[in-house]
Amino acid sequence: MQNIFVVDHPVIQTKLTELRDFTADHRKFRNLLDEIAMLMTYEITRDFPTKPRPVRTPMEQTVGVVLARPVTLVPILRAGLGMTDGVLRVLPEARLGHLGVRRNEETLEPIAYYQKLPPDIASTEVLLIDPMLATGGSGSAAVEFLKRAGATNIKFVCLVAAPEGIAAVHAAHPDVPIFCAAVDRQLNEKGYILPGLGDAGDRIFGT
Ligand code: URA
Repeated sequence: MQNIFVVDHPVIQTKLTELRDFTADHRKFRNLLDEIAMLMTYEITRDFPTKPRPVRTPMEQTVGVVLARPVTLVPILRAGLGMTDGVLRVLPEARLGHLGVRRNEETLEPIAYYQKLPPDIASTEVLLIDPMLATGGSGSAAVEFLKRAGATNIKFVCLVAAPEGIAAVHAAHPDVPIFCAAVDRQLNEKGYILPGLGDAGDRIFGT
């Protein structure tokens, strides 16, 4: 599969295994998800362009680098919030948009019930965040909403992806790379990922 990047670092995989464990309570689950998100961010941002920046060290003048473009994080409500602080720890200067997506019960069309994005999103690197890429329905719709708002450089950041979700996002948005810590086996009949980790939102928020 192209344009899918599995961050298979052994430390991340160890933490993911702990997080899958059904005995992990919401405090432990939240901490692990936060740590994994922070660690994944190094790989996700690896190809971000930089530009030169002069800097005076205590010894002499030299030239270092800074990220060339601002970064926008857009968690999909509500489970995306569980990865946001970890990413922000690596990218503290990032802007933070929010996107809530649900289906219209009659038309089944995805609608953005909440959308607040920076007005200059077009000139930023965008990380769309949702821990579980399951059917890919809300993920594809979220990418579409971001593109309509002007975003061009979008990366989809998740924790666990199902093959069905990857296929759906790639079919709709072949230009958007997907980063995850694991590609799981399949969806069940209710759209949950197997083996997965259950409902990420419920496990993050203890609901
Ligand atoms: N959303 C979740 O939180 N878990 C799944 O397994 C699928 C979608």
